[in-house]
Amino acid sequence: MATTTRANAAATAAGAGARAATRDTAVAAADREGRGTPAPWAKRHLLSLEELSCDEIGVLLDTAESFKEVLTRDVKKVPSLRGKTVANLFFEPSTRTRTSFEIAAKRLSADIINFQAAGSSVQKGESLVDTALNIQAMQADTVVVRHASSGASQLLARELDCSVVNAGDGIHEHPTQGLLDIFTIRERRDLEGLHVCLVGDIRHSRVARSNIWGLIKLGAQVTVCGPPTLIPHGIEEIGANVAYDLDSVLPTVDVLNILRIQFERQHGAFFPSIREYAVEYGISVERLRQAREEVLILHPQPMHRGIEIAAEVADGHHSAILDQVTNGVAVRMAVLFHTTLASSGPDS
Ligand code: ASP
Ligand code: ASP
Repeated sequence: MATTTRANAAATAAGAGARAATRDTAVAAADREGRGTPAPWAKRHLLSLEELSCDEIGVLLDTAESFKEVLTRDVKKVPSLRGKTVANLFFEPSTRTRTSFEIAAKRLSADIINFQAAGSSVQKGESLVDTALNIQAMQADTVVVRHASSGASQLLARELDCSVVNAGDGIHEHPTQGLLDIFTIRERRDLEGLHVCLVGDIRHSRVARSNIWGLIKLGAQVTVCGPPTLIPHGIEEIGANVAYDLDSVLPTVDVLNILRIQFERQHGAFFPSIREYAVEYGISVERLRQAREEVLILHPQPMHRGIEIAAEVADGHHSAILDQVTNGVAVRMAVLFHTTLASSGPDS
């Protein structure tokens, strides 16, 4: 496992030049001709980071880097997906992720349909697949789906002809969040050998699972830390180290990715009280003093200030939390760009 990881990481390094060329081709062509030449990317769907190779993750991150440059321009738009339609199909509350996909689609000149379950026929009992088939019948090229059930996006990928992008399915994966977290780290640090610690409710976190898969494939070392009841069995089998005592791992950590307690997914008491959780696992200014001077703080949001993270830490100089949000748009542009063109190809 470790050998494969290192081999993958070495392959990444060796392929860096080739991928930079790929990225330049994709975006320059998108700019020049109004339609990008898809980079070597064959997947119609993005359902998880588990199913991506190290190189495929690299293609998405490199493309996102170029799109990030587009976002700093006066005119923040490329014609890459002109004439294509992206449908946002959100069956769970979301502000950031839905908005981020919407902005990403608009920056690529796609048309965007926002579909929210509240007020829709879903409340009348329409099935997920029927709802999605109807959206597809309106000629959507890509469906972005957020759903409370793990596996919802896989189900749609089997049933629909268009591309499907997973925007968070139950406790399974949130691949674009994983990618944007990794992108934010990679902007600042070399991933090879980097020690990333995910703190909190690992059991109910789709963000944790996507981070673990992606980071390990790219050569980082991952530790998950939280109360024993919130660490799922078997997490070591996918390559993560497990720790229960945060203070003992903190001095060796380069990046802390702090997760929210997913109260809405917990059925039962997983720890005695919120106060005790905050004492054991909350990242306060005092606790952070034990960490390395240059430690990087991430949080996927929404945050519970004062529980898993102190306000001073969230807003302090170690924090890259708002950069994560900015990077989310660039990453989602890359994902929509590659998946949409892999499924429908450029318009003639
Ligand atoms: N579910 C949260 C929201 O949309 C966080 C996210 O998905 O970005 O606000
Ligand atoms: N926004 C992330 C998600 O939707 C994390 C969270 O909600 O805590 O999974």
